[in-house]
Amino acid sequence: MSTERLYYNDSHLIEFEARVVDLTDRVSGWTAVVLDRTAFYPTGGGQPSDTGTLNGSRVVECIDDGDNGVLHVVQGLAPARGATVRGRIDWSRRLDHMQQHTGQHILSQAFITLFNAPTRSFRVLEASCQIDIELHNPTTEIIERAVELANNVIWEDRAITILNVTPDQAAQLALRKEPAREGELRLIEIEGFDLTPCGGTHAYRTGEVGMIAARSWERAKGLTRIEFVAGIRALTDYRKANKSAREVAALFSTGRDDAPQYAAQMVEEHKEQNRRIRALEENAAGAEAEKLLTTASNGIITQTFDDRDAESLKKLAYALITSPGIVALLASRDKDTARLVFARSADASGDMNALMREACVLLDGRGGGRPDMAQGGGKNIEQLNAALTHALTLLNNDS
Ligand SMILES: [Zn+2]
Repeated sequence: MSTERLYYNDSHLIEFEARVVDLTDRVSGWTAVVLDRTAFYPTGGGQPSDTGTLNGSRVVECIDDGDNGVLHVVQGLAPARGATVRGRIDWSRRLDHMQQHTGQHILSQAFITLFNAPTRSFRVLEASCQIDIELHNPTTEIIERAVELANNVIWEDRAITILNVTPDQAAQLALRKEPAREGELRLIEIEGFDLTPCGGTHAYRTGEVGMIAARSWERAKGLTRIEFVAGIRALTDYRKANKSAREVAALFSTGRDDAPQYAAQMVEEHKEQNRRIRALEENAAGAEAEKLLTTASNGIITQTFDDRDAESLKKLAYALITSPGIVALLASRDKDTARLVFARSADASGDMNALMREACVLLDGRGGGRPDMAQGGGKNIEQLNAALTHALTLLNNDS
């Protein structure tokens, strides 16, 4: 049972009447309804399906079932076979899809006009669209040139018309892409710019697309994949990008367009500060080591700290073992984590790796390293002193 496709002739038809010619129960509460005519566009050609209502019941999706017609998947009360129903399309969704889809026709032709780069595939995603183009040397500048041409075509507000032609007639025409089907062809003509076979829904004039913006691009499987937004999506994306940029700018108490410069400056300052902190820490570790060395008993130093991270413990340990005959067993309560660093001078004895493994068992944690330097830690912070004492006992028993 074929369905007359009203959207072929009028992409702006929102309301229509039709007769129910077939019904199939899908799953419980969902029914596939076939009508003698429909304005609902079913999923296809990279364009998602329309949604809307049939006699007030929700149409959640439409599926193209070929010669069997268009299936309207209705949630809830379905109309009876033979009944006359009133269909209504969700216009904002249709307009959005037409803007993306028509925008794609224009952008694809812009890449052909400028770079002879054909489009291989197209998808309307949740918030943006993707096209894959045979563009071999993509740069942002090259892509922006195509986007600019596309926008000029949009703002020239050119007419978009539908031509129904025979295959013989089509063979005489310069089509942007080969027809995917046989028999009579439906061509979409953008006045003086693009001619391509397509069964989708399109704007009446290019101006309805509003504008096109490229969000990003990447190389993908030998093609260039471009993420773009058209019409309302371009505005939505602008608002989002503007909000992000203004929030970043507010952190620097500056204007939106000056924020990148301030951010770059801060990153540089941050790097410089880190370099200075590292140098100061080394100095401090040296001074601290000198003091700690006076507490060494038989060459062994044990010390527990609060709020020192592993990096800082290691710096101190390295400073300590520059002196000969030293074993340093250092511990820290670093917030919720117990940390240990064991180290020895080159001429001292003891296997720091083995000690660390034993000590970490008490901490419910793990650790290890080399015979002369090991680190570890665990969650059982209560056992930190016990772990340190255990390591000290093992060390004394060995020597
Ligand atoms: Zn199309």
